[in-house]
Order: sequence, then structure tokens, then C-alpha cells
Amino acid sequence: MRQRAMIALALAGSPGLMLADEPTTALDVTVQARILDLLSSLRQTEGMAMLLVSHDLRVMAHVADDLVVMYAGRVAERGPAADLLARPKHPYTRALVKSVPAVTTKSALAEPLPGAPANPRSRPSGCPFHPRCPMAQDICRVVEPPFIAIDEVRRSACHFAEEVPA
Ligand code: SF4
Repeated sequence: MRQRAMIALALAGSPGLMLADEPTTALDVTVQARILDLLSSLRQTEGMAMLLVSHDLRVMAHVADDLVVMYAGRVAERGPAADLLARPKHPYTRALVKSVPAVTTKSALAEPLPGAPANPRSRPSGCPFHPRCPMAQDICRVVEPPFIAIDEVRRSACHFAEEVPA
């Protein structure tokens, strides 16, 4: 109910853009689904854009049209949500997808990300993800990867974006 009250407050001024930062934190899955459906329908009926910040890939897959994946304060990958989650082109995105338990397949075990998140005060040299990346090579430790186009709509900040396995 508090979340709904906050949404009502945010919509009172008929904004063109709603910024929702972790709008479903600490909610059970049933209420979470209701809040996400409410946000989606409001987006349609109010004709507003919504910028959703979340660490929960399932929430993003449910609501987002486009995703921007960030690591250590840098954009790691960007693209249409469904395509990006189905075909990650950055090892961090791939690791995030693998870390979510798959409830619809026999291989339901999640794969936790190795290592610890980067410290923003002492960001690793080169690619900030290199201490945790299974694909890291020498260049990754010294050269920060550019944010390159994969195709017309996808971009990735990885030296080996084209080689990221499905
Ligand atoms: S640039 Fe290198 S370390 Fe960074 S994500 Fe790509 S392969 Fe991994």
C-alpha cells in the first residue's frame, strides 16, 4: 500500500518521465507482480516514459523495453531487453543471467558470480570487470574497452563482445 501511495504521489503532477528506484524491494512476489503490472499499465495510460533502476533481472525482464547494464559505475552493455537477456554480449551480463535460478528447466541451479564487486574508490585498471571475468586477457587489465556497437541496437563495453558464449 505504501508503494502504491508513493506511485500516486509521483503521478500527481502528470510527469513525462517517472524514475522508479527499486520500486519492488522487500515485497513478496505476488505484490511485486501487482506493482509491476500497475506501473506498466500506468505507463501506457499516462503516456509517460519510465526509468526503472533495479538489481533484479526478473523485474527488468517483466517491465523493460530496453536495458542498460552497469558495472562499477560504467555502462557495460545496452540493448532491447529480450534480446540482451537472451544473447548477452558482455561477460558481466552473462554472469548476471546465469546467477538467476531457472525454474522452467531441469538445470535449475544458479551460478553465483565469482569474486567481490569492484570498490568504486579503487576501480580496477583497464576493464573494471577483469578481476571477476572468465574471459579476461592481458589487454583487459590495461586498456578500458570502448563502448562499441554490436549491431544497430546493441552496444557492449567488452574487448571480446563477439566471443561471449550464449
Ligand atoms: S573486456 Fe575483458 S575483462 Fe572486460 S568483460 Fe570483456 S573479456 Fe572480460
